Amino acid sequence: MQSQLAKSTSSKIVVIGSCSVDFTAYAPRLAKPGETLHGYKFITSYGGKGANQCVAAAKLGGNAYMICRVGDDQWGQQYKQYLKELGVDVSHTNITPNVTTGIAQISVADNGENQIIIVPGANNNLSTSDIEQSKEVIKQADVLIGQLETPFLTTLEAFKLNNGIKILNAAPARTGIEEIFPFCTILCVNETEASILTDLEVNVTNAAIALKKLVDIGCESVVITLGQQGAVYLSKRDQQPIHVPCKNVKPVDTTGAGDAFVGALATFLVTHKDYPMHQIIGAACEVATISVTKIGTQTSYPTNFKAFTKEY
Ligand code: ATP
Repeated sequence: MQSQLAKSTSSKIVVIGSCSVDFTAYAPRLAKPGETLHGYKFITSYGGKGANQCVAAAKLGGNAYMICRVGDDQWGQQYKQYLKELGVDVSHTNITPNVTTGIAQISVADNGENQIIIVPGANNNLSTSDIEQSKEVIKQADVLIGQLETPFLTTLEAFKLNNGIKILNAAPARTGIEEIFPFCTILCVNETEASILTDLEVNVTNAAIALKKLVDIGCESVVITLGQQGAVYLSKRDQQPIHVPCKNVKPVDTTGAGDAFVGALATFLVTHKDYPMHQIIGAACEVATISVTKIGTQTSYPTNFKAFTKEY
C-alpha cells in the first residue's frame, strides 16, 4: 500500500531508537500475585519512543527514516509494514532472527492504576554494527533523533557521525549520559528527566535554572517540556531562556505527548528553517497538545496539521 501522507520536505529526519508493541488489558482492578482475573477490553498498539517520534514526524509531512531492530515474530513484520505504509523509510529497520520484538504488557485498572512489564527484545540488539551499516543515511540526516530505550553507546556512535541537527530525547530518565552532550544540538527532556539530570526538583518556576545547568554541562541548547505549561528553551549562544506556553485543553490521554513534541520539533526545524526558535517550539507544543486530546499514542498524532497559522 502506498502512503497517503504527502512529504512536505526532502530534508531527512533520521530516528535511531526503539520500536515496541503495547498489549493493554483493562480490568476492574489489578491482579494480585498468582491470581487470574477477567478483564473487559484489550488493545494492541504500536509504540516505542523512537517509532513514536518517527511516526509523529511522518504524519506531519517529514521525510522520516527509522533505524531500529524488531524481532522475527509476526509483530516485527507487521510493525515494519505499518511504518512503510505511513511513508517511513524502513530500509534500516532490521529484523533480528531468534529474538522477539520489544513489547510492553500493560494492565490498567478502573481506578487508573497500572502495571507494566517491558521486554526490550530486539531493541537491545541495536548495535554499533547497525550504525556502521547505516552510516551513509546517518551522515546525510538533516535532523538525527535519539532516545535512551536502545543501547546508549549505539546512539552515541551515531551522534558522532552526523554534522546536522542532533536531538537527544533523554528518556527514560537516567544519569551517566554526559558523554553525549557535546554532540547534541538540542537536549529535550521533561520535568522528571530534567530533575534527574540536574538534581533539582524541576518545575515551571525553576526551569530556567535547570536549563542553565544543563547548558553548562555541555549541551548546545536545551528544551524542557512542562506538560500543560508548554515548554522552555535555552541556547548557549543566546543565554536567554524562552517560555512558550501551550493551549489550555481537557486532556484525555497524555501518553506519548513528549514523543509527539520531539517528532514535531524535528519536522518544523527542517520545514521552517528560518523561523525563530520560540515559533518552532510553539508549533511543536501545539502538535503535542492536540495529541493529549485524543486516545492512544501514535493514533493521536495529527496529520494535515497547518502549523504557523498563528504566532506562538
Ligand atoms: P509523555 O511521557 O506522556 O509522553 P512527557 O512527560 O515526555 O510526556 P510532557 O512535558 O508531559 O512530556 O508534555 C509534552 C508536551 O505535550 C507539552 O510541552 C505540551 O505541549 C503537551 N502537553 C502535555 N500535557 C498537556 C496538557 N495537560 N495540556 C496541554 N498540553 C499538554
